[in-house]
Amino acid sequence: MVSVDYELRKKVMDAHIHDALKYCYQCGRCTDVCPVSRVAPERYNPRANIMLSFLGLNIFKGQQNNFAIWGCTVCDTCDEICPQKIELTEIFAVLKNMSIAAGEGPDYYTTQASAIYDAGKAIPSQAAIERRREQLGLPKIEEPNVEEVQKILNATKLNTILKK
Ligand code: SF4
Ligand code: SF4
Repeated sequence: MVSVDYELRKKVMDAHIHDALKYCYQCGRCTDVCPVSRVAPERYNPRANIMLSFLGLNIFKGQQNNFAIWGCTVCDTCDEICPQKIELTEIFAVLKNMSIAAGEGPDYYTTQASAIYDAGKAIPSQAAIERRREQLGLPKIEEPNVEEVQKILNATKLNTILKK
């Protein structure tokens, strides 16, 4: 049996601007337009995520369930279509943050975050890319200031999550 997770409910309600979440009437337009729901209807459903978050029913715990949260690509299509102007992706950010805090985020997330922490950018420099840019007459890519990037990421406590 799933019990009410009051922490989840409070976080979701606190995060939602204008308190509009309670006006979701489950019309399902968000799910109709969601590109992820179209290809994986059994595994991802923004309408259901909104309902469960509002009720504080945390079915998102555990790595085996994390596609129900992390499947969202943050394309914002649902935010644009919602007749009640609910900012669904804000709610989904709360769910994702809770998932990371519980150490249940997907591996690809921490791997990518680690690459950004170490190199200052998502895709580290590669000789092949540099050569291709030169052939195309494009300027050299300026290297990021890794120290500065790490300072910013440390302020968000990403280093503690990544154990850096
Ligand atoms: S489109 Fe908006 S009102 Fe309709 S189910 Fe989704 S969140 Fe609720
Ligand atoms: S933001 Fe997420 S939930 Fe909304 S339509 Fe895009 S993939 Fe679907």
